[in-house]
Amino acid sequence: MDLPVFNSEQIKAHRPAKNRVREDRPYAWMVESECNSLGELNQVLTLFLTGCECPFQCTMCDLWKNTLDQKTPVGALVEQIQFAFDDLNVDWHDPHSAGISTIKLYNSSNFFDARSVPREDWPAIQELVRQFETVVVENHPAFCGSPVFEFQQGLVGQLEVAVGLETIHPEILPWLNKQMTLAQYQHAVESLVANGIRVRTFILVKPPSLSESEGVHWAVQSMKFAFDCGVECCSMVPMRSGNGVMDQLRNSGKFMPPEITSLEQVLAIGLQMKRGRVFMDLWDSEQWLGAACCRQQRLKRIAGMNDQQRVLPEVQCDSC
Ligand code: SF4
Ligand SMILES: [Zn+2]
Repeated sequence: MDLPVFNSEQIKAHRPAKNRVREDRPYAWMVESECNSLGELNQVLTLFLTGCECPFQCTMCDLWKNTLDQKTPVGALVEQIQFAFDDLNVDWHDPHSAGISTIKLYNSSNFFDARSVPREDWPAIQELVRQFETVVVENHPAFCGSPVFEFQQGLVGQLEVAVGLETIHPEILPWLNKQMTLAQYQHAVESLVANGIRVRTFILVKPPSLSESEGVHWAVQSMKFAFDCGVECCSMVPMRSGNGVMDQLRNSGKFMPPEITSLEQVLAIGLQMKRGRVFMDLWDSEQWLGAACCRQQRLKRIAGMNDQQRVLPEVQCDSC
């Protein structure tokens, strides 16, 4: 692996400025469709909550951009959730009337880090999401202890925890500065699953230093590992620049985003495994490399495979 190694201080020193955020507002909120674990296309409410920055500094992370420097104030997340419900006209007593079954409470950090989500807010949050069938939160394995099980006990619906695996590449995982070993990941996933909590995982496609074919290979191996650990869903995240360090690597020729055809391949292989749901994250798809002639058809194919959870016919392009 031919990559400069960055510690947390160096990663922070490369960062551009944070965005201006408000502690009483989520920084984004939306309703999207997503195939559920039964294979049905459902409406999902995703709230990007504004809270305390994550204590880790992963090399590839750009989530810190929309976080607070200080602890999340008590009551702030409850106000944010209520604001998003009002703005989207979602009746939280009956989200099913709007066809919504799942809520994602993503806080750009770890839901079970008390600096990010104050425990005092748990009862109000649990009350606001009690009519949703599935509640999805993000969390690092270091915070996957007993608080997760305590939070689950106060929920009516199914708790699903999203845990970043990122990659099982033996040199790149430590390089990512995630402060996590595969054994810690496996232990966290197994204990969550043993306690009736569903797990989805994030996997990077084509981290720096890998060729296109290596990028596909390690994404597929990482999916296999995650499913073996017991995850129910793999959310594939094409590596992107925009956080400072990744831009420096891109400028020095050590990182290039993946080709769109590699992403189609990874998604198709993942779906063919039939071991659980597999999604390709379409965020920042403008960074993906590939010919312009068939780009729109390929994006449409990926979106269709995400929604239908099956491999769709390959794009036939006369120009490339
Ligand atoms: S653990 Fe997650 S939120 Fe925290 S720095 Fe790493 S990628 Fe970002
Ligand atoms: Zn083409």
